[in-house]
Amino acid sequence: MGSDSDKETRKKKEGAYEQLKPYLERAMALQASLILFEWDNETLAPEEAGKYTAKVQGTLSGIYQEIITGKAVKELLEECKKEQRLTEAEQAIVREASEELCKLEKIPPKEYRAYQELVAESARIWSRAKREEDFDAFAPTLKKIIFYQKKFAKYQAKDGQRLYDVMLNDYEKGFSIKKLDEFFGILKRELVPFLKKVMESPVKISDDILEGDYPKEKQRELAEFLAEYVGFDFKRGVMAESAHPFTTNLHNHDVRLTTHYKKRMDSSLFSVIHEAGHGIYEQNVDDELTQTLVGQGASMGMHESQSRFFENIIGRNEAFWVPVYKKLQELFPNELGAVRREDFVRAVNKVQPGLIRTEADELTYSLHVLVRYELEKMLIEEDLDVEKLPELWADKYEEYLGVRPKNPSEGVLQDIHWAQGSFGYFPSYALGSAFAAQMVRFMQKTMDFEALLRKGDVEIVRQILKRHIHRFGKLRDSRKLLQDMTGEDFNPQYYVEYLKEKYGKLYEVKI
Ligand code: ZN
Repeated sequence: MGSDSDKETRKKKEGAYEQLKPYLERAMALQASLILFEWDNETLAPEEAGKYTAKVQGTLSGIYQEIITGKAVKELLEECKKEQRLTEAEQAIVREASEELCKLEKIPPKEYRAYQELVAESARIWSRAKREEDFDAFAPTLKKIIFYQKKFAKYQAKDGQRLYDVMLNDYEKGFSIKKLDEFFGILKRELVPFLKKVMESPVKISDDILEGDYPKEKQRELAEFLAEYVGFDFKRGVMAESAHPFTTNLHNHDVRLTTHYKKRMDSSLFSVIHEAGHGIYEQNVDDELTQTLVGQGASMGMHESQSRFFENIIGRNEAFWVPVYKKLQELFPNELGAVRREDFVRAVNKVQPGLIRTEADELTYSLHVLVRYELEKMLIEEDLDVEKLPELWADKYEEYLGVRPKNPSEGVLQDIHWAQGSFGYFPSYALGSAFAAQMVRFMQKTMDFEALLRKGDVEIVRQILKRHIHRFGKLRDSRKLLQDMTGEDFNPQYYVEYLKEKYGKLYEVKI
């Protein structure tokens, strides 16, 4: 009794998935600690800590890789794929783990390390080049990053798959070049001429009231009030300050937001509602899924859809401010005491084509993304010469937005993404806005969305998003979630309609 063959039978009975679980739990624990380090680096860690802490992070991510690519996990994953009785969640976890393994396994470790070092260095080079308005100082590094990105994409590409498609797939499954050409084609055709009309409209909106004496302490009070008002749960979340606002989470009971406080009060105000949208998504992922490989939001685009739903569709809606505006007047009596709510709402919806993506208004935002999409595609698919980027960037800004950067820092050097090797990330920003528009159109069919906001009932809206999107985590991809919620595949027309309707009314432009 108790022979090896008995053990074998017991193991088989236990099932491959049960055996896989402890490995994945270890991997997830490492991931959670890496997230905590990242959070700490951005918020509280002392300035000099970076280089030393990076060593700890490097070791931890090394162990993570070892676990995922180890022989045991590999064999168990193969077994799991044959198993018939896995639940939807288990199948999705096996799928995610297999993809992760595939990705880590195909890149030779030596090349991966060299690339990691390059990227660690490149953020510094980029940041200096940006400060000194010197694109040439960054160009050689960018060339190397693109070289590696293409090389790695080649390792992953399935027969004949285009390299940019491989990269896009990392951020948004189901959105290939073909699909995105269609999407951005519509935005270009519809929104570029519409924006021109808005700018020529005799209606002029002033946003001067947003800049003034807005003490940081009061701004913080407002930020906490608003995050809670839209549904962020402070018993399972915290808010801190960082240079660039972001959201991260250890699991659905520990979600962390950051914000920044600027002279213009709407900057913190809307970035808080935006990050709260990301945070609410993570807090509402099912308990059963959290702390697994499918325990976070479905994709970059779906995440942006939630943050933008809260920021724009809720937060920049006139109805939202009906119950909330008096709180603003109480906090800032000198600045807003005598300002009418209508004028405040008009001010936060002012359209002003500018050079900087992160400061863009709701209407022009996706045109900033369009520029980046077109250039990324050219860099990866058409071998566009990196040296030509600043000029092409400026030309496209002039064509789509009517503004031209005077130097590369307010042009091609403004975003960190390419310096981090994130090619294929940008489209998800525009997709998110479009997903959100499709969702609100669906809601408006069955309820009076604005009336709920006027009554201060964001809760019902949040529950709908939870039921259709949040609780599923990464179980299903964004197109499937959208299809299940709205009864329709992704349809960019809703986004165009939403923008034209809202800004056509505000600027009295015929559509
Ligand atoms: Zn976001």
